[in-house]
Amino acid sequence: MKLILLGAAGSGKGTLAKKITQDFGIPQISTGDLFRAIVKTESELGRKVKSLIDKGILVPDEITFEVLKDRLSQKDCKKGYILDGYPRTLAQAQLLDKLTKVDAVISVNLPFDELERRLVSRRQCAKCGDIDNVNYPGYTGKCRKCGEKLFQRDDDKPEAIKVRLEAYKKNNAPLVGFYGDKVFNVSSAGSPDETYAPVKTFLKKLEEKN
Ligand code: ADP
Ligand code: ZN
Repeated sequence: MKLILLGAAGSGKGTLAKKITQDFGIPQISTGDLFRAIVKTESELGRKVKSLIDKGILVPDEITFEVLKDRLSQKDCKKGYILDGYPRTLAQAQLLDKLTKVDAVISVNLPFDELERRLVSRRQCAKCGDIDNVNYPGYTGKCRKCGEKLFQRDDDKPEAIKVRLEAYKKNNAPLVGFYGDKVFNVSSAGSPDETYAPVKTFLKKLEEKN
């Protein structure tokens, strides 16, 4: 199964992707994670990418597609995958479409004021990447999985959040239009499990058809 997850930063896309990965045995391919790994290499490309993502600016489509294509050519993607954070623009969708056709697109929806609220309170583990939120019950500032101290990403600071949400507003409607009746809409206003339930039902049916 080849899937795309659409949704703004803070919509809970990543959390949903992890649940799908567990139940359906396909890897989560997050372009954001791929870029953060490239930044860590401290290469020329890494420095360029860092200066963009810290401000919340999109990396150019050609670079993004090359990075994605490289990842999708690896063995674990043979059975399918779930794309988290790609495509972000219509041009990216068109590039992907030439490479392969996806089976379904899950669009995660949440009102803008709630997105902002979730993003400013979001924290991440530097070691294992786990996401937490200062407003969630039991928050201690330490990672629930590995105990490491949590930090706030530079792009979760208010100025960068604004840039990211504006880009989403501009780019998402054309993407949803592009994929037409492949799109399955879900609201992430409830808990992660409540968000996942209808998606799981939808994917089970899709799996049977294929
Ligand atoms: P979020 O979805 O929370 O904004 P991500 O981790 O998906 O965060 O992405 C972080 C940053 O990586 C983005 O703000 C952008 O700079 C870059 N990025 C990720 N995916 C793409 C993409 N498909 N096209 C261009 N830039 C991207
Ligand atoms: Zn951790």
